[in-house]
Amino acid sequence: MSLSFYYQCSECRKEFDISPELMICPDCHSHQKIEEPLRGVLEVVIDGHLHHSPKISELLPVEADYYPQIPVGNTPLWKPTGLNQELKFPNLYLKDDTHNLTGSLKDRASYLVAAYAMRENIREIVLASTGNAGSSMAGVGAATGLSITLFLPETAPKAKMVQALQYGARVIPVSGTYDKAFDLSLEYSLKYGILSRNTAYNPLTIEGKKTVALEIYNQLKLVPDFVFVPTGDGVILGGVYKGFKDLLKLGIIERIPTIIAVQAEGSNAIAKALKTDKFTPIDAKTVADSISVGIPRNGYYALKQLKQYNGKCVTVSDEAILSAQKELSVKAGLFAEPAAAASYAGFLKMKDDLDNGAIVVLLITGSGLKDIESAIKKINFPTNAIASLGDLE
Ligand SMILES: *Cc1c(COP(=O)(O)O)cnc(C)c1O
Repeated sequence: MSLSFYYQCSECRKEFDISPELMICPDCHSHQKIEEPLRGVLEVVIDGHLHHSPKISELLPVEADYYPQIPVGNTPLWKPTGLNQELKFPNLYLKDDTHNLTGSLKDRASYLVAAYAMRENIREIVLASTGNAGSSMAGVGAATGLSITLFLPETAPKAKMVQALQYGARVIPVSGTYDKAFDLSLEYSLKYGILSRNTAYNPLTIEGKKTVALEIYNQLKLVPDFVFVPTGDGVILGGVYKGFKDLLKLGIIERIPTIIAVQAEGSNAIAKALKTDKFTPIDAKTVADSISVGIPRNGYYALKQLKQYNGKCVTVSDEAILSAQKELSVKAGLFAEPAAAASYAGFLKMKDDLDNGAIVVLLITGSGLKDIESAIKKINFPTNAIASLGDLE
């Protein structure tokens, strides 16, 4: 027997058919206030039973025939043996999503949205991004013949903007923050009737990102004890929960791992809300641009999962993030961007409270080459070129 899929509002539980016209629960969204996370985020619900271990594609709401034939997902899960020994955590793993087509985990969401666009005969997609979602949609769009319009804060790391332009996307720089870019891109989407891939707003972004959890389970063949997730808008966090929740619902696993949302101290809206139970907009400021978010778009959904499944938040300083980035490069050979290294920084901060035998997975969400300006802060960049070996002395 195969499974069927529908949307359900994560707030009022109302059910809807999946359709390109519907992105968000109209009732709950009508109460949307400015400066708060999105109201009425829709969740894809899986219905039915399976009598075999499912392939990942069977757990997604777009038929496998529509998937682009490009290298997205199936990323390596590996042990950094030097760190395993040094930190005395023999079961610490890195889920290395720098291996995706455009170098970040965002490709998982872009992939599913692109497949859906193919199924629905949609040729154009618009989105706002802090950088990676945009370069990702641009790359996946290029590979699948979609035309992509991207609203990007003008302060986005240059490599990410170059990446998007290189793939042929139309890039519209926005003077102001990501939050402003988000609003402008939605306005554009509604005005011209173009499918939005805005994170959390398009429910398939959460759904696409769940594949990372499904892969972790397939690779470990068990449920890890802890998964560290760098968190800005809370869509990766929501996706990781969604993946494990689907496995639980289908009777494949028996528990949800403890998920730890790692935020930068200067961009800690979800960590704050977990303490105070409400969202207050913050003036986000961190070196980890991919998790620099004033209003976490998937905040309500993320908070609900964290509370329901006993998840935790940890915040880390920029200094800790940059040190973690350097250490991961030097000791594990994995050059991650600052946001991605935040999961390692969060682990270092919490490790004394964890059992040394625990099975711990750190999500490494994006490549360090995407933001060399940040990485340069922790290296001695050579300034004098030599002409002969004698110059070395
Ligand atoms: C987008 C992103 C994140 C955070 O994901 P959210 O869904 O915004 O919480 C973390 N790391 C990298 C590299 C990203 O691109």
